[in-house]
Amino acid sequence: MASNKNEPLRGVRGMNDILPADEPLWQRFEDAVAGVMNAYAYRRIRTPILEHTRLFVRGIGEVTDIVEKEMYSFTDALNGEHLSLRPENTAGVVRSVIEHNLLYDGPRRLWYTGPMFRHERPQKGRYRQFHQVGAEAMGLTGPDIDAELILLCQRLWDDLDLPPVTLEINTLGQAAERAAHRAALIAHFEAHADQLDEDARRRLHSNPLRILDTKNPAMQGLADSAPKLIDFLGAESLAHFEGLQRLLKSQNIPFRINPRLVRGLDYYNLTVFEWIFDGLTICGGGRYDPLIEMLGGKPAPGVGFAIGVERVLEILRRQEQSAPSVDVYVVQQGEAALEAALQCAERLRDYAVSVQMHAGGGSFKSQMKRADGSGAAYAIILGDNEVAQGVASVKALREGGQAGASGAQVSVPMAQVADYIRERMLGQ
Ligand code: ATP
Ligand code: MG
Repeated sequence: MASNKNEPLRGVRGMNDILPADEPLWQRFEDAVAGVMNAYAYRRIRTPILEHTRLFVRGIGEVTDIVEKEMYSFTDALNGEHLSLRPENTAGVVRSVIEHNLLYDGPRRLWYTGPMFRHERPQKGRYRQFHQVGAEAMGLTGPDIDAELILLCQRLWDDLDLPPVTLEINTLGQAAERAAHRAALIAHFEAHADQLDEDARRRLHSNPLRILDTKNPAMQGLADSAPKLIDFLGAESLAHFEGLQRLLKSQNIPFRINPRLVRGLDYYNLTVFEWIFDGLTICGGGRYDPLIEMLGGKPAPGVGFAIGVERVLEILRRQEQSAPSVDVYVVQQGEAALEAALQCAERLRDYAVSVQMHAGGGSFKSQMKRADGSGAAYAIILGDNEVAQGVASVKALREGGQAGASGAQVSVPMAQVADYIRERMLGQ
């Protein structure tokens, strides 16, 4: 391609620079991950970014989005090898475990982090180079280990102070059970062939299970009414799924069963799960018992997950922006009120409460607007009336951290305002 030497050089579309300003956030995330992995006795493994293309074709599946259209694959001009940038890392970790015989003395709990590459249309939360953190437990049949991985995720969300993330779980049963379901599924979709979109028609015979994953609004009814895999499961698969649910309940992990959760990769069986925030999946995982043997190892079960790092960081970023920067905003009008306000603010600061004093005058109404916008949890209001009565009016601006959920205004004797606020802040 002809290139204009005056044209500025730019990075590859969908591949981001992570600049120093973002580093504290990445560091915080990476430290939390390392801490949690250590707490669950998972050990880090680092595998190459390039692998033989056939590893992903065999390990992810030929009729998956990733292998069909998202891989950066090329032929090494120097030796003719067919290579791909890794689009995910379960296949690479399994390859390494087999190659180095890591399961020789029993099960392994491993984790990794690093960049992954998929040729997708860049948009919010979707890049061509992105990062994943993943964990893989091999040689264990579960459902205890499935639950452990979910608890590990929950602990990470807690350590990062994420707002509530929804856990969805489902079971994909075993291959034979899926085959029976598949026939019913194809019959269902064929009976409504006129309602299928192009994507669904393409998948009807190659990967009909994936049609359940459709985001097309026009297809939701058809997908919801499709035969459910759970009705095709034998006793053993059902027991595994029920065992997982029992363990999650016993550990107070809320979850929702989503019969349409199928995940994109071919090798999953039994447990699949996703953590969702604001409509975006931040973590997906599941069991892949057939995979190790499929890639040439001695048969051994496996289960794991991958977290989309950029998607989690985006939540953290948003939260930092909305985090209250001050605890208390002082609204005051009149000379006497100002003196009382200054005194009151100093006493609060003695208690390490951060206080923003309104300056520059203005009506109570406009000052209250500022108070709301400041993110403060409380407003203290002082005017002539309050001063005459020796009190301050205190108003909670955000109940339970929730903006807009303001409480009533209460009168508190001036001398007790600092204690009143401190007690409430400690009580939260
Ligand atoms: P989706 O349905 O969003 O395409 P997926 O099934 O392809 O997801 P996985 O292969 O399960 O995703 O990857 C695990 C996680 O990695 C996803 O849940 C998401 O958080 C993240 N992820 C996947 N693809 C991208 C991407 N292109 N850019 C950023 N994050 C991604
Ligand atoms: Mg995808």
